[in-house]
Amino acid sequence: MKIQSIRGMNDLLPEQSATWQYLERTVAELLASYSYGEIRFPILEQTELFKRAVGEVTDIVEKEMYSFDDRNGDSLSLRPEGTAGCVRACTENGLLHNQTQRLWYTGPMFRHERPQKGRLRQFHQVGVEAFGLTGPDIDAELLLITARLWKILKIDHAVTLQINSLGTSADRADYRAALVEYLNARRDQLDEDSQRRLETNPMRILDSKNPDTQALLNSAPSLEDFIDQESRDHFQQLCAMLDAANISYEVNPRLVRGLDYYGKTVFEWVTTNLGAQGTVCAGGRYDGLVEQLGGKPCPGVGFAMGVERLVLLLDELGAVPDSVDQAVDLYLLAVGNVEQQALVLAENLRSDCPNIRLECHCGGGSFKSQIKRADKSGARIALILGEDEVASGTVGVKYLREDRPQKTVAQSELSGLLGS
Ligand code: ATP
Ligand code: MG
Repeated sequence: MKIQSIRGMNDLLPEQSATWQYLERTVAELLASYSYGEIRFPILEQTELFKRAVGEVTDIVEKEMYSFDDRNGDSLSLRPEGTAGCVRACTENGLLHNQTQRLWYTGPMFRHERPQKGRLRQFHQVGVEAFGLTGPDIDAELLLITARLWKILKIDHAVTLQINSLGTSADRADYRAALVEYLNARRDQLDEDSQRRLETNPMRILDSKNPDTQALLNSAPSLEDFIDQESRDHFQQLCAMLDAANISYEVNPRLVRGLDYYGKTVFEWVTTNLGAQGTVCAGGRYDGLVEQLGGKPCPGVGFAMGVERLVLLLDELGAVPDSVDQAVDLYLLAVGNVEQQALVLAENLRSDCPNIRLECHCGGGSFKSQIKRADKSGARIALILGEDEVASGTVGVKYLREDRPQKTVAQSELSGLLGS
């Protein structure tokens, strides 16, 4: 029996990786231009880190983590998100001591969810975090980065920004109590999932996709009314900054996010082009998290983008530029007993034209079979090296995509000719 991959954990084939590389390259360049530095930290951490950061009674920790005991009997987990590990790494390496940090990372995350379009068990995020800054200006900066990214990727028409303020944890505790009181009195009108959440994480009911629940929430207490003045001011200033920068947004008072560490600002970029999995980027402020994980108090704010969902969106919108195509420029045929000379010619060409993409035929075969391969490679030009060419120091140049006559040129002139 063949061994199969794990459900919800996909292979990425070369054909698709071109789009991934385009996205990763674009993001990396953009973040560098805003002075964000890349940080890398392990995929495995102590389970306790995620329990403390994400929260014991969140879906992620309760149901979705890949946790196991290692050979020493320590409980480890594959990271379900990046912020916890990022904070851990920053604290451990003294990065948060009396300084600000603007950081980003990318890589796989793991959640045992029900696999479907845009929802996987191994998925990938680009995460961005800023530490040491309390004001709404840095919240705005993060949103400006994302807005600019959508523009560069030409998907800005397909995503909208939702923002909300969660206030302080005391505000949320008061609100939670009021919400629970309201919903408890209407318990029988809730579906099973929301009834369960009423006990564990009642604010997540605000997220419910059930239209009856949403209708019920219309007359429920609103989080807005429980937010303290400082959070209110912070939020108002953020909105003013977004207005000034011409970023459209929608205030969604029911936006709560599924991780416990958020306070004050939260946001999501959503699209209607991907069905139910419409959130392509989400984040918010987490001023208490560093301390909660044992560091000195240090404010933080960040977001994570779902790479798979962005790739799906790019494909759906036909927004991947043609230049992302990975086809080679040249395919060098080695016809006859000339493999050695072909390899040397190819190496010389690579030295003379460092940007050229050249595939060298290996494995011999007839001219006919080699030219077929050349065509399949997508190359614009086939270079033909046979025993005659080797003897005369020349090479045949055959245009595969244009109606131009084949010609013979001196090998020494080849690098000058390429590009024309
Ligand atoms: P959702 O509501 O879609 O489950 P979430 O609130 O669990 O998202 P976050 O933990 O904030 O998501 O992660 C940030 C982003 O990572 C999401 O907006 C989404 O784009 C992506 N993401 C999260 N979980 C998955 C998954 N299982 N598969 C693919 N992408 C995911
Ligand atoms: Mg989720």
